[in-house]
Amino acid sequence: MSKDKIWLSPPHMGGSELKYIQEAFDTNWIAPVGANLDCFEADLEKYLSNRYVTLLNSGTAAIHLGLILLGVQAGDEVLCQSMTFAASANPILYLGAKPIFIDSEIKTWNICPVALEEAIVDRIAKGKKPKAIIAVHLYGVPYQIELVRLVADKYSIPILEDSAEALGSCYKGKACGTFGDVGVFSFNGSKIITTSGGGALIASSKVLKNRALFLATQAKDNAPYYQHSEVGYNYRMSNICAGIGRGQMEVLDSHIDLRRSMHEFYVELFNTIDGVEVFTVPNDDYFANYWLSTILIDPLKTNGINCETLRLAFKEANIESRPLWKPMHLQPVFSTCPFYGGIVAESLFKKGLCLPSGSNLTNEDRMRIKTVVLELFK
Ligand SMILES: *Cc1c(COP(=O)(O)O)cnc(C)c1O
Repeated sequence: MSKDKIWLSPPHMGGSELKYIQEAFDTNWIAPVGANLDCFEADLEKYLSNRYVTLLNSGTAAIHLGLILLGVQAGDEVLCQSMTFAASANPILYLGAKPIFIDSEIKTWNICPVALEEAIVDRIAKGKKPKAIIAVHLYGVPYQIELVRLVADKYSIPILEDSAEALGSCYKGKACGTFGDVGVFSFNGSKIITTSGGGALIASSKVLKNRALFLATQAKDNAPYYQHSEVGYNYRMSNICAGIGRGQMEVLDSHIDLRRSMHEFYVELFNTIDGVEVFTVPNDDYFANYWLSTILIDPLKTNGINCETLRLAFKEANIESRPLWKPMHLQPVFSTCPFYGGIVAESLFKKGLCLPSGSNLTNEDRMRIKTVVLELFK
C-alpha cells in the first residue's frame, strides 16, 4: 500500500560523478586541493562567461566570505531580503553586523526596490549608511535586476547576489550569479546540482578571487612557517565533493530543462483550478531554472482549501511539499531587527506552497501528484 516517497527536490546524479571521485582516489588527492577542484572551477567559470569562481564547502560560507570581501564589519548594517532561507542572513550575525530586512515585491517575490530605497534613506537619516545589500533569486526567479542595481548605485552600496537557488537562471540572457558585486551559489543536496554539500563565491576580478581563496584556506601568510596576520577560515571545498560537481556540470542543462518541464506540468495541472496560481516569471526578460515550482492558493476561491490542506493531502499520499520560506522579520532569532515594507512577504508565506520539483520525477510520480490535486479540488 505505502508507495515510495516523492521528495521535494532530491539529488539527481548524472553518471560521471563516481568516475571523478575514483580519479581523486587514484591520484590520492583526498584533500581540499586537486584536479577536481580546478576542473569544476573552470567549468563554472566558462558557464558564467569568465567570472572568477572560488569553490567553498557551503553556500553559507560563500555568503560569509562575500560579506567580508565587501568590507562588512562588526557594528555595520546590512540590508537583506526578508523572504529567503535563513542562510542568507545568518552570516550578517557571524560578523557582528546588524540585519535590516526588506519586504518583497509581488512580481518576482524578491527584494522590493521601493522598500529598499526607503530603508536606505531612513538608515542614513538615523546616522548609518548600510554597508551591503543581500538580494536573492528565490526559487530560481531573478529579482528585479535593473531596479535593484539602480538603487544600489544611487547610494554606492554593493550587492551580494544570493544566487544559491538560481544556477542556470538568466536575466536578458545574462547568467544569475554575475549581477552582484559578489555572487553566491549553493550545491547542497536539494539544489539544482549538488556536491552533497558545497558552494561557490563568484567574483569579477582575479584579485578578489585570490583574496577569497586566501581567507578560505586559513589566511596563511607567504612564509615557510605558519604565520597569520589576519583571521582565516576553513571554507574550501573538498576535492572529493568537487568530483561530484564536475559530473553534475555535465547534466546541468538537462536538469534545468527537466525542472522547467515540472513547472509546465503544474501550470497545466492548475490551469483549470480556480484560486490556484503557479508562480511564473513576469516576462520574457526573465529565464528561471524553476528550481522549485511554487503555487499560491486563495482559499476564498477554493471553498476554503488552503496550502495546509493541500500539504496534508500530499503527505497522506507520501508526497513531500513545503510552505514557502518564512520571512526573516517574522523569525524569533531576528525579532529585534528593523524591517521596511508592508505585508507582501508575509502574505506570500501564508498563501504559498513548494511542490515536488525534482529533475528525476517519473511520469508515475506526476500521475500520483495529479491524482491528489484533482481529488482534493474536484
Ligand atoms: C541553500 C541556500 C543557501 C545556503 O546554501 P548552503 O550551501 O546550504 O549553505 C543560501 N541562500 C539561499 C537562498 C539558499 O536557498
